[in-house]
Amino acid sequence: MSSTATTTRKQTVIGDPVSNDPEVSQALLEEIFQDIQADLRYDHELNGCLNCGICTATCPAAHYYDFSPREIVQLLWTENLEGIYDAMQEKIWACAQCYTCAARCPFGNSPGGLVMLMREVSIKHGMQSAKNVLRPFSRVMLKLISTGNQLSPDMINPDHFADWGPNISKVEAPLKLLRKAIPMPTLNTTETAWETNLKTSVELYTIWEETGVLDQLETIDENLFDVILDIMDEKREDWEDWQDEQDD
Ligand code: SF4
Ligand code: SF4
Repeated sequence: MSSTATTTRKQTVIGDPVSNDPEVSQALLEEIFQDIQADLRYDHELNGCLNCGICTATCPAAHYYDFSPREIVQLLWTENLEGIYDAMQEKIWACAQCYTCAARCPFGNSPGGLVMLMREVSIKHGMQSAKNVLRPFSRVMLKLISTGNQLSPDMINPDHFADWGPNISKVEAPLKLLRKAIPMPTLNTTETAWETNLKTSVELYTIWEETGVLDQLETIDENLFDVILDIMDEKREDWEDWQDEQDD
């Protein structure tokens, strides 16, 4: 079913009728879809689709945005390359990644998981939608990539999140208590959570490099990539100096 859908849709280029965006070639559409399909998780997340709409009925994002997990799954299942590309320009970023859809789908699909794959491919291709969505998170990404974490319970207070408004005070105490129930005391405060030792930092940077995370970052935010490279160089030098001192 899925292979015939592609071959019957002959179109060399597509154009967006409501914007001045450049046309997208059929070759690029196919490359993007192949990148999504090539992920090992794809066959696990997509098993077929009854078009029943249960996923959309239970999806919180569908209640507030022009977004439907059923539509995303149908686009992929029918290999609607133009529709997939269009959805990657905006709709896929509405998903909250709560995975209610995956728990409810009678076919065992994970629309949220498929959205995640599409997001990763949009980053790989440096799509403007990915740049726009991720730009406000530069500060978070800097902390996350340089220390391995960025949020600790002592940050959940009005000083750190003034823009959350007065309701922030209502969640402060419960979160602290809940976090204390987790046996990771070093993650309880920014003071300890952000103090990553040199060896761990250097190992973390190797992981970011080997898994392609840094390449992805360079594609979507070159300035942040440069800042993080400087931090990595500095920490690696510190680590080498420390090792030299031990040898002396
Ligand atoms: S719940 Fe599953 S089968 Fe039903 S529309 Fe959603 S993805 Fe398709
Ligand atoms: S994971 Fe995304 S698509 Fe699925 S229910 Fe949650 S918000 Fe909706």
